[in-house]
Amino acid sequence: MRIAPGGTIGIFGGGQLGRMLAQAARKLGYRTVIFTPDADSPASQVADETIVAPYKQEEALKAFADKVDVMTYEFENIPAQTVLFASKDKPVQPSLQALKTTQNRLDEKTFLNRIGVPTTPFAAVQMLDDLIAEAPLLGFPCVLKTQRGGYDGKGQILINERKDVGRAYSDMMGQPSIIEAFVEFTRELSIICVRGFTGALMFYPVVENEHRNHVLFRTTAPADVSERMEQRAQDLARRIAEGLDYIGVLAVELFETVDGGLLVNELAPRVHNSGHWTIEACRTSQFENHIRAICGLPLGQTTLTHRAVMTNLLGDDVETVDDWKRAPGATVHLYGKADARPGRKMGHVTQVFPLED
Ligand code: AMP
Repeated sequence: MRIAPGGTIGIFGGGQLGRMLAQAARKLGYRTVIFTPDADSPASQVADETIVAPYKQEEALKAFADKVDVMTYEFENIPAQTVLFASKDKPVQPSLQALKTTQNRLDEKTFLNRIGVPTTPFAAVQMLDDLIAEAPLLGFPCVLKTQRGGYDGKGQILINERKDVGRAYSDMMGQPSIIEAFVEFTRELSIICVRGFTGALMFYPVVENEHRNHVLFRTTAPADVSERMEQRAQDLARRIAEGLDYIGVLAVELFETVDGGLLVNELAPRVHNSGHWTIEACRTSQFENHIRAICGLPLGQTTLTHRAVMTNLLGDDVETVDDWKRAPGATVHLYGKADARPGRKMGHVTQVFPLED
């Protein structure tokens, strides 16, 4: 399937990822329509058109599907029924199956282990007895996470000792969850890959991620990893992308363990915050490659042109933009959000450095 430039791409979700996808689509000669429940979203400010409606409003979804040639999403918590309904009229990439697998932590980790991709040990929690039985087997501390709806550490509770189990369970308020062993990781890494219709697969280099309050703060690209670890990360990403028969950009979040191994923490079936630096420091950005993949165009080279450090501007950090503007090699991106709530992703800065340094 090929959608020629001049065609229209529909994007579910109106955040900064949708904004940068719309900017990349425009550069390639496509039109974009955003579907979002939020008025004046970051993506709508740069798209050709926006439909503002709840995700479950069928009439609006029909109108959206009528306007576009292909649909994609910038956020994995779009209800699966929404994508199912819209996909009756027009193709959605990555597929509904990829979306469903990655929006539920239990399904995701079960899938990963089934295809031989290691994760921290985990167990499903449907009721208090499950947690009482499983937590001591996994050991303390362990982490209780909602099966659905979690990202950036939302829906997560650290359980330090046996006596905290009851409280943690009640804090989950009956939501289906998983309990997983705490990983004593040395670093958090991620790898982003892109897969096209022909099965062609390209990898961006492994990057290192630092979080603050569970939210990504800084990405260093490339990470200082051995050739062997780079290869291992690529092998895992390949197995996952092929296992999902995936089309588009896929992000794989990794823990590096003390013994130098890699565990997959989470998948993101979309462009990812740890790949923002690719705009300035790779031949083809993750955003452009996602558009190329879902439109059936040849993928662009993922080769590095620079080293880069990407820093998120969270909440009040946005007040430092003038300093960043003076920093050598820095490019500031602001997302057009009016309200700088604490921890909110207001923008990011990518600072590039020569490769040979
Ligand atoms: P998540 O929402 O699963 O991406 O988790 C957000 C962050 O919480 C991760 O980037 C880690 O820093 C931390 N985290 C999540 N799961 C674990 C775990 N099993 N062990 C240790 N840290 C974790």
